[in-house]
Amino acid sequence: MQPQHRVSGGEHLRSERQTVMGWLAAILHERFSETLLLNPSEPGWVTLSIPGNLQTIQIQSSFEIFDQASSDLPCTQWCAARENWLAVLGGDIPAPGAACLPYPLIEQTTQGYIIHYDILGLAYWMMSRKEEVGRTDLDEHARFPAVVSHAYKHQYLERPVVDEWFHVLGQVMRRLWPTLTLVDHHFATRVSHDVDGPSWYTFSSFPQLLRTVGADLLIRHKPLRALKAPVIWSQARKTLHALDPANTFSWLMDISERYELKSAFYFICGRTDACRDAQYEPEHPAIRTLMREIHARGHEIGLHPSYNAFQQPEVIVKEAQRLARICDEEGIERGAWGGRMHFLRWETPTTLYGWELAGAAYDSSLGYADRPGFRCGTCFEYPAFDPARYMPVNVRIRPLIAMEVTILGQRHLGLGTGEAAYTKFMHLKNVCRAVDGNFTLLWHNSELETSECKALYESLLA
Ligand SMILES: [Zn+2]
Repeated sequence: MQPQHRVSGGEHLRSERQTVMGWLAAILHERFSETLLLNPSEPGWVTLSIPGNLQTIQIQSSFEIFDQASSDLPCTQWCAARENWLAVLGGDIPAPGAACLPYPLIEQTTQGYIIHYDILGLAYWMMSRKEEVGRTDLDEHARFPAVVSHAYKHQYLERPVVDEWFHVLGQVMRRLWPTLTLVDHHFATRVSHDVDGPSWYTFSSFPQLLRTVGADLLIRHKPLRALKAPVIWSQARKTLHALDPANTFSWLMDISERYELKSAFYFICGRTDACRDAQYEPEHPAIRTLMREIHARGHEIGLHPSYNAFQQPEVIVKEAQRLARICDEEGIERGAWGGRMHFLRWETPTTLYGWELAGAAYDSSLGYADRPGFRCGTCFEYPAFDPARYMPVNVRIRPLIAMEVTILGQRHLGLGTGEAAYTKFMHLKNVCRAVDGNFTLLWHNSELETSECKALYESLLA
């Protein structure tokens, strides 16, 4: 009998670490250069090198620290200027996972540079969302909320901390390998719109219509809108009604075209919660007309998986197939497509597999509903990774930086539609610009009812 090959705990850890290293190498290739080589050297260190050059960058790396599904890691700060390096956002750079740092943090030796902070471990922990795996301290929608996150507790949620450290790493590469050409990145704004309610009234049953009109009058104090309701409800059949306050699609496309942007519209194609999912069916003639218009104008159509889909990959697949069928029937050809989870509900890693199985190119859910900022520590798109099974997942993460209701709405920051909200959005946008990343903004079509709202939205893209 052949003796069975037994895998020791140490070997498991080694193979998991190796998969993580492979994924991190892919991220470094996208960010810096395809030619970079990443190798675990002696225990506790990884080495960055380039072919044909003996000079290396050694990074002190303790996988165990950043392989924790916990928000209780220590945190300190590093003063880049004290060592003659540039902090791209100014000030001290947060250093999650470390209680204190040695001086100097970045040492020059005859072999190259040594960095005594685990920049790559941090990237793994933030970008894989390891912090969230199996957590039970969730909000009423079973979401991991910003307020319990390490980033919020240590006040760096509004900083793309991985991008800041990558900026430092890029400086080290430039000094060590001045002839190495690094990838050029350019700032871009990405706008997307979750189509939760394409109409205030069209898709309502008569009792639902009465309830909405009642709420318009008594709760929202909008008598004019209530007056339009019966007209919109009875007339809109093949297209959304021009008077409908939620029908801002043409306006959104006009604005995007004015600033040479592409809007992405994500449609709900299923119902897994009677109250929280959409009233419309995506096969409705008015929705089909809308999709044709979006496509004809060169904007994007994607999926907004229903409320309970986040824990059921097969439901995301079914809803994606339904959207694909409608697009086929309407002659809408889509290349790579993606979307965002309804209510930003997300479970790491379950939700990732839904997108992967559905054949999506990207997901753009990973921002927090309760606070804006950098949930993944970055504003760059990147390939996904499952930190529970230690496997790359074939979908890309397009981190969400801000959703309008998070900043405007009373339930969260409550900044309204004036100067304070504008300042907050622009701060986030400028941070993304400083690191040459992407400012990904979610603005619902149904949240543009007032001229103040519209003016604010347009000012953010101008
Ligand atoms: Zn939604």
